[in-house]
Amino acid sequence: MANLRYVITLVLGCMSAASTWQTKAQAPDKLPVVATFSVLADFARNVGGERIDVAALVGPDGDTHVYQPKPADARELGAARLILVNGLGLEGWIDRLIKASGAKAPVVVATKGIKPQQMREEGRVELDPHAWQSIADAKIYVANIRDGLIAADPAGEAAYRANAEKYLGKLDTLEAEVKREIAKIPPGRRQIITTHDAFGYFGTAYGFRFVAPEGVSTETEASARDVAKIIRQIKSQKIPAVFLENVTDPRLARSIAAESGATVGGTLYSDALSPPDGPASTYIDMMRNNVRELAAALAN
Ligand SMILES: [Zn+2]
Repeated sequence: MANLRYVITLVLGCMSAASTWQTKAQAPDKLPVVATFSVLADFARNVGGERIDVAALVGPDGDTHVYQPKPADARELGAARLILVNGLGLEGWIDRLIKASGAKAPVVVATKGIKPQQMREEGRVELDPHAWQSIADAKIYVANIRDGLIAADPAGEAAYRANAEKYLGKLDTLEAEVKREIAKIPPGRRQIITTHDAFGYFGTAYGFRFVAPEGVSTETEASARDVAKIIRQIKSQKIPAVFLENVTDPRLARSIAAESGATVGGTLYSDALSPPDGPASTYIDMMRNNVRELAAALAN
């Protein structure tokens, strides 16, 4: 009898251990995903939904070009199951950081398949990394992130496909809205000054001309000669407005505006989203904010 009781206890014990294990397998922890900057993290959140936990190394209003990685970033990458990067030279620091972190997670280059544009920086021709500023390209980012999530977490395939489909639909709506708003700006006025050259893809996609005293990245400061050239250009080409950016020092834009007589437009969000309480805390809100600011300064 005592033996039988022992056996029953043992069996019950095993069953409860088995059921604990089963519950855990049915509700696994969220997939840890690390993105290099806020725009990628927002795309991932929209596609990954409840299944993933996303962290951005460079947060709101941060400058990814000149980011200095912290020890916590290496720990974050080491624990990631999927790493999302922009590529095209945006994150000059990422390869070394991934190596140092010992991360084994697959790396998705979100710009894979995008036709890169080039730009000139200090006389050299370089790839322009700011492809997310074209909504058509943003849709390619989303598809790449979806495929990366499916490869890292095949059990979530149906959810990732459904979420991506829904989000791509929202981007279609956004694209139509942006084109409609820009159509209201007279073509002759569709040229502005920004402090760094982040809007090449936006310009190509929506028929806009952006002139910037700084090159591809924010690393090189505009020289006095660059600034003088820009001021002459504003006057001779009658460029109506100078815009501020959330990732660059506003003083340069303000002094260019003051010296050239151009008006200061609003703040454009170029390389980072705003904090949650700001006007551009998601990619969709960022694009809406930028077009609204452009239209407000240029439509008449
Ligand atoms: Zn940039």
